[in-house]
Amino acid sequence: MKKMIIGNQAVAYGALSAGIDIATGYPGTPSSEALTELFNFSQKNDPSPYVEWSVNEKVAFEVATGAAWTGKRAITTMKMSGCNVASDSILSVAYSGTRGGLVIYIADDPGAEAGMPEQDTRLFALQAGLPLLEASTPQSAYKLTRFSFELSEKTELPVILRLVTSVSHAQEMVEGDYSYNRLDREASFERDIFKYTKAGSAICVGQHETLLLRLKQAERIVADRRINRLNCRNCSDSTGFSVVSSGSLIPYVNEELMNFEDVPHLALESIYPLDENIVIKMLKKSERVLILEELEPVVEIMIRSLANKLGWCGTILGKMDGLLPRTGKYEREVILKGLEALVRGNRKRKKHENEPIVETPSIGFSEITGNKQNRNDLPPVSIKHPITFCAGCPHRGTFMALVRAIKRNRMDRNKIIVTGDIGCTILGMNPPFNSCWTEVSMGSSIGLAQGFVRGGIREPVVATIGDSTFFHAGMPPLINAVQHRTGFLLIIMDNGWTCMTGFQPNPGTEERFQGANTRQVDISRLVQAMGIDDLQVINPFDQEHSEEVLSQALLARGVRVVIARKECAITVARRGEVESVCVVDPELCNFCKRCLRETGCQALFVSDYEDREIVKIDTDQCNGCTLCITSCPTDAISTGKIK
Ligand code: SF4
Ligand code: SF4
Repeated sequence: MKKMIIGNQAVAYGALSAGIDIATGYPGTPSSEALTELFNFSQKNDPSPYVEWSVNEKVAFEVATGAAWTGKRAITTMKMSGCNVASDSILSVAYSGTRGGLVIYIADDPGAEAGMPEQDTRLFALQAGLPLLEASTPQSAYKLTRFSFELSEKTELPVILRLVTSVSHAQEMVEGDYSYNRLDREASFERDIFKYTKAGSAICVGQHETLLLRLKQAERIVADRRINRLNCRNCSDSTGFSVVSSGSLIPYVNEELMNFEDVPHLALESIYPLDENIVIKMLKKSERVLILEELEPVVEIMIRSLANKLGWCGTILGKMDGLLPRTGKYEREVILKGLEALVRGNRKRKKHENEPIVETPSIGFSEITGNKQNRNDLPPVSIKHPITFCAGCPHRGTFMALVRAIKRNRMDRNKIIVTGDIGCTILGMNPPFNSCWTEVSMGSSIGLAQGFVRGGIREPVVATIGDSTFFHAGMPPLINAVQHRTGFLLIIMDNGWTCMTGFQPNPGTEERFQGANTRQVDISRLVQAMGIDDLQVINPFDQEHSEEVLSQALLARGVRVVIARKECAITVARRGEVESVCVVDPELCNFCKRCLRETGCQALFVSDYEDREIVKIDTDQCNGCTLCITSCPTDAISTGKIK
């Protein structure tokens, strides 16, 4: 079937044809019509994908990611500036990869028609290490959107799909099936901290190396599928000139080449990673190459780098020699100027005024380290001495209560997804709690939780976040959940400080510790103002009450928030305000080690007593939190000595 549609609509229909289950986005010219089309489709059709206008691009990406991690196909849409907002999470998820196809549609605006910076998303793709496809027409937008999902699933990488204004708003008769091909995949997600967290340098570096290997795989797939085309009439009689163009410029260059005989044209719709084989084929036929691309010399840098590596001795014309501009849309005059310089050799060598001299890099962007280390070679995160909470840390109490609440509800811990965030709270990922499943970026736990719910996970989903992180980036995703009625349990662990980075104050820190002329912001009032009706506050050292509250919250529906409030043990200790420590009665200790297993507190240690082993407490470390008391079946532990 053929329909007259614009490029943004073509992206929407390509995504429907690919069988997406979820689409999220934040409006911004020139991308908005893509999600508008999907939203309208979802309002009128059943079945249809879940579609939401999220509170911002970062949340939109996180919700889409959560759904893709359950195995579903997901697309998120934004303009180029939105990419800056989402970048914290995109860069992190690039390392983790994806399961279901995850496509990030970003529309750039050469010429700044919408009045923002001429940001080039291709540079972001290089930084993130993600494949980037760029459509040349609405028809190719439709096809490339479908292919993006295939590429994403084969490489397990999110894929960036880029359109520029002249394509996203261009209208054309587009051939497509215009139907929603739902895939009916079962949602599932398995805990794998090597993939979904950043728990230690070995994991992070390993993920980075995996990402580079996946990029190489993307290059091979793109080559096999012939996404890029080398169009050369009478190539055997080639004049030694070639043109490279990308994305939106391809049709214009094709048109102009009608007047230039025998000039091979390499048309790139897969920009990154560079399809090296087809570029090498083109270079072998050429002595002079013209590279036409709007904005930054991204393709040019990669081709110059490859040419250097090959020892190719021809001439490359483009932006880096000052021939063509790095600003604005390329109108016909610019293309003609390049082509004439190519075939007549009359290009001006003088650089544009203020044009910086750009050094050609000596190493190709697509080179990889060669280190084939995979996750199985990585040292385990935790062996004998897991990185865990400090002695007396209130977060220990929160995770103990959560584990106990799950058990009390007879729920399967392997099925209760607990998303983690940045900061001390992520230590709940390690033994003995083994609770957090994900770690992406500041505030991401809340967006990801919504993605898991929207992806179709049936069991309760729990998000965990610290107070400082909540202030930093946790409020927008919570508002998003309220707006879209996406139900899950959020636990905000409010210890009053930004601890992991050195105990800096945050808006929730008591005024007396913040310095002059400051004011404390109460998280519970904030949360209520966001529209949360189901809000409870617990003291994580009161295990009985905490377990009771959390077990009910796990069973409840809707967005519910539990604030676990107790000040950081270290800041209390630094002020000399620890009132007591705990002690073990050696006569009562039967060395069952339950206190060790359940708390993982480093103040507990094994010692000899008469002719047997018992557990003792290092009173220099103990902060008297009493959590180990709740574990001991023989009442061997009690609050004792005053510090
Ligand atoms: S009371 Fe027990 S759990 Fe708390 S800090 Fe002391 S030894 Fe650790
Ligand atoms: S839980 Fe109690 S009895 Fe068991 S090892 Fe610890 S102190 Fe001893």
